[in-house]
Amino acid sequence: MRQADDHEEPGRGAGAAGRSATALPIAVRRLSKAYGAVPVLQDVDLDVRPGEFLTLLGPSGSGKTTLLMAIAGFLRPDRGSIRFGEREVVRLAPHKREIGMVFQNYALFPHMDVARNVGFPLRLRRVPVTEIARRVEAALEMFQLGGFGGRRIDQLSGGQRQRVALARAIVFEPRIILMDEPLSALDKQLRERMQIELRQLHERLGTTTVYVTHDQREALTMSDRIAILDRGRIVRIDAPRAIYDEPGNRFVAEFIGESSFLDVTVTDGVCRAAGAVILAPHLPIRQGRGTMVLRPERLRLLAAGEGEGMNCFEGRVSGAIYQGDTLLLQVVLGDGSPVSLRLATRGAEAAPPPAGAAVRLGITVADTVLLADEAGGAA
Ligand code: ADP
Ligand code: MG
Repeated sequence: MRQADDHEEPGRGAGAAGRSATALPIAVRRLSKAYGAVPVLQDVDLDVRPGEFLTLLGPSGSGKTTLLMAIAGFLRPDRGSIRFGEREVVRLAPHKREIGMVFQNYALFPHMDVARNVGFPLRLRRVPVTEIARRVEAALEMFQLGGFGGRRIDQLSGGQRQRVALARAIVFEPRIILMDEPLSALDKQLRERMQIELRQLHERLGTTTVYVTHDQREALTMSDRIAILDRGRIVRIDAPRAIYDEPGNRFVAEFIGESSFLDVTVTDGVCRAAGAVILAPHLPIRQGRGTMVLRPERLRLLAAGEGEGMNCFEGRVSGAIYQGDTLLLQVVLGDGSPVSLRLATRGAEAAPPPAGAAVRLGITVADTVLLADEAGGAA
């Protein structure tokens, strides 16, 4: 039986393909968890907007799974609050939270066939048998598993198992979907196709979704917003483009995208890096040391006479890495700093200068990102 509460029944009768009636916001407040003396979540505050696709991104061990399991109800935090809409759920059992969950290892029932796996959440909720059959079939169709209902789990490929897990997560029209690295076991091509499919599914269903990954490119591809975790804290939450363009600190700049870093000194508001005076839209300090973040696709190889109005550096080519669609040119600047820039492999840039060649590099002022060095932070 559904829990009696102050919410409307979600999308009743709409079938698995129906848009969720009312997407729920999630509000996490001061959530903390420690194992012994080791803090794993430290006063985490997180707001997931109704209908949003939010990704928790961070290195291994940063607390992503712990936070997701706390939201799902499989893990009891030491303190803090979790609300779905107006409702406090922190003490509510997982099956009463009306969450669709996809685990990293899929967690399918090996002794049940595909249809029974997908129908499981409906049987749990005592949905009538004919209704279960209809909704299971609709969910299987949605994930290109039509006709697979009678298959055993061990007769499926990794990609098909993953789809079964997804079908099972959405079949009862949950108001919130939680996914923990659901694509990490798939090969690259299938993973990239599934990223697009999951994104499209989300656009169709509009269900509030929290997605966990350690893959920054996956996070950039799929998310409305990304929350970046570092040692049990959310250090940044923003839209993909905002995070990429303005990482704000060294940890985020290193974790999202590729970058080269230059040491910067600022004296009376004048900024210098690798022997050149640098102009930037935002100068984080008037005095002291900082870091310049150089994205390889924003750096340009300048021809003679080019570079007016840009920040320019002299250097020598130290190597080139051909990557098919692009080429990564490695350059050592005058002060010895290594930087990389990405060139096209067709057209004007297709023949890169050879190792040892003297080159000039430029980056527009608009693309120039400076960070203040954090006190006691990474060198
Ligand atoms: P992530 O999913 O970001 O890789 P986790 O949330 O799984 O990180 O784990 C965060 C930290 O908590 C890790 O250092 C991990 O070793 C520790 N941890 C997780 N679960 C337990 C547990 N049951 N007992 C002790 N330590 C744990
Ligand atoms: Mg994890």
